[in-house]
Amino acid sequence: MHDYSEPSLTAPPPPGCPAGDPGVGLLPRSLRCRGGYGLSQPVDVFKLTRELIDIPSVTGEEFHLGTSLGELLIRLGYRVELQEIDSERANVIATTADQPKVVLSTHMDTVPPFIAASEDEEFIYGRGACDAKGIIAAQIAAVEKLRGDGVNEIGLLFTVDEEVTSVGAKALNELPLATSCRYLINGEPTDNRLAIGTKGSLQVTIKTGGLAAHSAYPEQGVSAIEKLLDVLADVRQIEWPADETFGETTCNIGVISGGTRANVVPDEAQTVLQIRLATGAQAAKDLLERAVAGRASLEYKSVHDPVRLLALDDFEQTIVRFTTDIPYLTNWGTPLLIGPGSILDAHTEHERVAKSELLKAVEIYRELVQRLLDRTT
Ligand SMILES: [Zn+2]
Repeated sequence: MHDYSEPSLTAPPPPGCPAGDPGVGLLPRSLRCRGGYGLSQPVDVFKLTRELIDIPSVTGEEFHLGTSLGELLIRLGYRVELQEIDSERANVIATTADQPKVVLSTHMDTVPPFIAASEDEEFIYGRGACDAKGIIAAQIAAVEKLRGDGVNEIGLLFTVDEEVTSVGAKALNELPLATSCRYLINGEPTDNRLAIGTKGSLQVTIKTGGLAAHSAYPEQGVSAIEKLLDVLADVRQIEWPADETFGETTCNIGVISGGTRANVVPDEAQTVLQIRLATGAQAAKDLLERAVAGRASLEYKSVHDPVRLLALDDFEQTIVRFTTDIPYLTNWGTPLLIGPGSILDAHTEHERVAKSELLKAVEIYRELVQRLLDRTT
């Protein structure tokens, strides 16, 4: 069992770690002394997946996972940089002595709650099994094999915060190292199929206002909730645009709230919609604004258009509906998206990844990197 209560950046060093440790590689202090969990070596993709799952890393709490990965990659002989995002978490960037022309990337954070690792013959279970800790393990194993074959123009990028706002990816995009890179292979669970596109996404909060009054005298007030229900009825009638490649645009009414108590006419109400876009965001915004017709305020949160990705022959293809770090990693070269596991298992209580898919992913990543490096020469 790991002791998850310690250590933190401000905690005194654990036993055996000198105070003011001079540091390892590019890191300010020895990672073990800053909270690395000591991941096993050499890389066994099943064992590493389980070890990564057992380091909790719900978004905002990626510190221990980042330092543990950094420490492992240093031991494996990579140049490792931890790009600090805030005092408690950092992106992990691992390269060789050469400038990377192809990088493999995925995210370290998970949705809550933490679920410890377990396994049977066929699957590894636990939070992050497929989204995306099995992918981290498969990517490291693939790059290890490639380095064994003498391939060095490769790198690994592990981000924080993908599940929330991708602040990790946004910061990573600013690194000068990105400009030398030609291809980005991002890992998310696609059942090991090469995604040739990802749908866009638009999140919007719709707020209505009213006038509070005693419920026995409703004519004295204006109900914000009834206004919101009228607006939503019209939003549900919208015929969203479709696209041949990306399919239907869909709208989820994910949150609805308002009012204070049953006997008061409510003076405020709001809803949050998540729209998965098959076409550009502007068309969806226009349709929404027409439906709302000035009866409510609209506040857009995350907005991005659908992304077309590089397709290669000989790989099974798919279109995915979820979003990734890819829109924020534009400086790292042409993006591709592929990974083991199913998005339908991600974010669930039974999250899992098939062992056979993990092994296959190692070979897929290896082959993809080779194919892409061939294209750069
Ligand atoms: Zn993910």
